[in-house]
Amino acid sequence: MKTISVVIPCLNEEQVLPLYYEEMKKVTAALPDLHFELLFIDDGSVDGTLRVMKKLHAQDQDCHYCALTRNFGKEAALFAGMEHSSGEYVIIMDADLQDPPSLIPRMVDEMLNGCYDCIAVRRKDRKGEKWFRSLMSRMFYKALNRMTPILIAEGARDYRIMNRKMVDGYLMLKERNRFSKGLFAWSGFRTKWIMHENAQRAVGDTRWTMLSLTRYALDGILGFSTLPLSISSYSGIFLCVASLLMMCVLIIRYLLWHDPVQGWTTLMCVMLLLGGFQLFCIGILGQYLSRTYIEVKNRPIYMIRETDLDPRWSNESGA
Ligand code: UDP
Ligand code: MG
Repeated sequence: MKTISVVIPCLNEEQVLPLYYEEMKKVTAALPDLHFELLFIDDGSVDGTLRVMKKLHAQDQDCHYCALTRNFGKEAALFAGMEHSSGEYVIIMDADLQDPPSLIPRMVDEMLNGCYDCIAVRRKDRKGEKWFRSLMSRMFYKALNRMTPILIAEGARDYRIMNRKMVDGYLMLKERNRFSKGLFAWSGFRTKWIMHENAQRAVGDTRWTMLSLTRYALDGILGFSTLPLSISSYSGIFLCVASLLMMCVLIIRYLLWHDPVQGWTTLMCVMLLLGGFQLFCIGILGQYLSRTYIEVKNRPIYMIRETDLDPRWSNESGA
C-alpha cells in the first residue's frame, strides 16, 4: 500500500484543526487503497494548537505532530514537515481549508497515473482577498517573473503533491531565506497545474502581516535574481557618463562666455538626488550582504521542541 504524507504547517490554528481533520478524514476514507499520514507542524503557536495536535495523535495513529521551538515561518515549517515525512508521496497544504481537501482524489489520481513529478494547484481568482493585498501580490509575481529565470504561474499556491524524488531534491536546498514557490520552480521537476476557485479561510484571518509579506517578497526577488545589483551598477555607470558630459559643457561655457553657472537650487537638487541614489544602491548591496551573512552562519532552518516522531535536524545531513 502506498503511503502519502500530508504536511500541514500551523500557526495558531487551534480552532480550525478539528474542522480540517474532519474534512481530511472524509477524503482519506474514500481512498482506502492508500495510506495517509498527517504531519502537523506547530510553528510556534501561542494558543492550544499543540494540545489539539496531541489529542488527534492520541485518537488516530496516523496523525503526528512536531512542534518547533518558536515561530520560524511557514517556509521553515514546510521544510520540517517534509524532512519528517516518510511517504512515497508528500502533499503540502494549509490548515485553514483554503486548500480544499476535496481536490486530493484528483491530485492523487493525476500523480499516480500521469508522468508528472508534481501536481500543484492554482487559483482562478483572488475573490475575497483585500484589494490592496491582491494588487501587491499580482505586481510582485509580475516583477518576479520578469526579473528571474524561474517562472511562477499566476495564482500559484503552495498546495501540491510531490513524489519522493522531488521531495528529496527539495530537501537538498538548505538555504535559510526560503521562498518555496521559487524553489519548487527552480528545481525544474515536471509540474502539472490544476485550477480551483479561491476559498475563504475557515476560521480567523490570515497569519501574514504586511511586514512578513514584504519580507517574503524580498526573499523571492533577492533569492532568485541579482538584477537589482546590476541595475544599481549600470545606473552608476550611466550617471558617471552623464556627469562627465555635463562637466565638458560647463567648462566650454565658461571658456567661451565666461559664464559661471549660478543656480544653487539646481546644485542642491542634484546633490540630494545623487546622495539618495547612492544610499539606495548601498541599501541593495546591504540586502544581499545580510542574506549572505545569514546563510554563511549555517544555522539549522528550524529547531524542534517536541515530536512523536524521530526528530531530524535540518543540518544533520551535512548542510
Ligand atoms: N503559517 C505558519 N507559520 C507562519 C504563518 C503561517 O505555519 O508564520 C501557516 C498557517 O497556520 C496556515 C498556512 O501557513 O496553515 C497559511 O497561512 P495563512 O492562511 O495565514 O496564509 P494565506 O492563506 O493568507 O496566504
Ligand atoms: Mg490561508
